[in-house]
Amino acid sequence: MQEEEFQTGKVYCANCFHCKLLPELECGILRIRCTAGKWKKKLGQEKVYKFYTIMRRFNDMCEAYEDMGESAEFIRELRKSINEDSSNTSS
Ligand code: SF4
Repeated sequence: MQEEEFQTGKVYCANCFHCKLLPELECGILRIRCTAGKWKKKLGQEKVYKFYTIMRRFNDMCEAYEDMGESAEFIRELRKSINEDSSNTSS
C-alpha cells in the first residue's frame, strides 16, 4: 500500500488491538487473525489473512475496534517494519 492510499477516518484492522500475528508459519507465510472473531468464511469458520494484506483490511462498522493509538503514525511504523521484514527475507 502506498503512503497516499492511507485514508484518515477509516478503521484499519492493522491499528486494532484484536489484529494479531499468528505465531506459526503456514507454507512459509505469516498470517494474521482477528481475536474478536470478526473475520469469517461463508460457512462460519474463522478466516485468516496473509500478513502482507494487513494494510488493506478495514472495517468502518466494527464495534469491537480498539485502536492502538494514532492511526497514521501506527500504520507508517507498521509499513516500515513490513518493508524491512520483506527486504530481509528476499536477500
Ligand atoms: S475487531 Fe474489528 S477492527 Fe479489530 S481487527 Fe477485528 S474486524 Fe478489525
